[in-house]
Amino acid sequence: MSAGVSTGAQLLDRIAANGVVGAGGAGFPTHVKLASRADCIILNAAECEPLLHKDKEILWHYPEQVLAGLTRASELVGAKEIVVGIKGKYAEVIDRLGPMVPPKGRIVPLSDTYPAGDEFILVYDVTGKIIPPGKIPPAVSCVVINVETAWNIGADTPVTEKFLTVAGAVRSPVTLRVPIGITVAEAVGLAGGATVANARALIGGVMMGQLASPDEPITKTCGGVIVLDAGHTVIRRYEAPWKTIARIGASACDQCSFCTEFCPRYLLGHPIEPHKTMRSLCFVESREPAVIGSQFCCECNLCTMMACPEDLDPKSVCVHGKRQLAAAGREWEAEAHPYRAELQLNNRRIPTSRLIVKLGLARFKNEGPLLDRRYEPERVILPLKQHAGAPARPVVVDGTQLEKGDVVAQPEDGALGAAIHASIAGTCRVTEDRVIITGS
Ligand code: SF4
Ligand code: SF4
Repeated sequence: MSAGVSTGAQLLDRIAANGVVGAGGAGFPTHVKLASRADCIILNAAECEPLLHKDKEILWHYPEQVLAGLTRASELVGAKEIVVGIKGKYAEVIDRLGPMVPPKGRIVPLSDTYPAGDEFILVYDVTGKIIPPGKIPPAVSCVVINVETAWNIGADTPVTEKFLTVAGAVRSPVTLRVPIGITVAEAVGLAGGATVANARALIGGVMMGQLASPDEPITKTCGGVIVLDAGHTVIRRYEAPWKTIARIGASACDQCSFCTEFCPRYLLGHPIEPHKTMRSLCFVESREPAVIGSQFCCECNLCTMMACPEDLDPKSVCVHGKRQLAAAGREWEAEAHPYRAELQLNNRRIPTSRLIVKLGLARFKNEGPLLDRRYEPERVILPLKQHAGAPARPVVVDGTQLEKGDVVAQPEDGALGAAIHASIAGTCRVTEDRVIITGS
């Protein structure tokens, strides 16, 4: 091996040492994902959450770095084919990428629908293959990586920064590139601040996000912050307690099955029918749904936010059922149930524009240009769990002086996880679940 050329094992070690994880979802450690073998690697640039723009902005501003990371990833998994899946409406980005795509690569323009970025839908749209229920893309010889993940592989340095779009009820919707560990309030401030008095924030997006307090840190997996008024329907839905959801669901569900008819996993032929999970609320006094298909819910929220004419929350019922099934150790037996895509799959894709209207987001600017200004916070908060797997173990103590990029936490030996690095220089304080760095 000549100097400057890395073996696959060395490259995987560097990706692990740099703490690269899936930047657009659960934060699966990238060095583990890229240890798979696959014929096809797909760059997931679908970005279907309403009002988010960060993947498109990264691709526009840093196409070489993203494609360099994607090419390295393709070599690691032994892919014969590289695919960039991006919405066809981003014609300028596609034109820019076109001449740079490697010889074994192609760009697949995707529909502007939700959830185009769901891995199962993306793999189906690109290859025509259906990932079996409960499996992951390598089951059909595919690996899917997020745009920012590819950017991080291309950077080949410790992951200390995060791209995210801040949108909704803010003065200037924007995509930021900021140190990991700044707070939600700081991110909203960089977008000009909230335009409503009783602002609430959703981390990750309107459809698949989570309510976040202003002092919550931005982590490696946060793709966006959406600000809405506390009285907004979407916020009220996220705040509804489980007991209310279950009680109203049991009495008001008319079993129209619209939730099932819209469910993207059902339409792929997976054995999930949310209306049956809703029905189960009536059968058990405890209101604990346990219909076996619930475990295949991808939590896209389409059934709740778009389909249900009664404004019920089948998604939360399925998620609750999924947890019940996991706790009971109940699993679906794949061989017993053949699957195939429903003929209606293409007719039932939900245009993002319709979703935006239905969610009451049409009054917000649907844009997020990358802010070309670096932000230097006085303090960052680095949770020890920003990835799938076990929390990382701190390798620093109170008072340790750190430079940007120094390791602050590592996965326990043999545990699934990712390294965490200082995103600013400063002095650290270590708590049970986080490392806090105050700038020097
Ligand atoms: S769409 Fe709503 S009312 Fe219809 S079956 Fe599903 S949960 Fe019940
Ligand atoms: S959230 Fe609803 S529509 Fe989405 S996968 Fe789950 S059951 Fe299906």
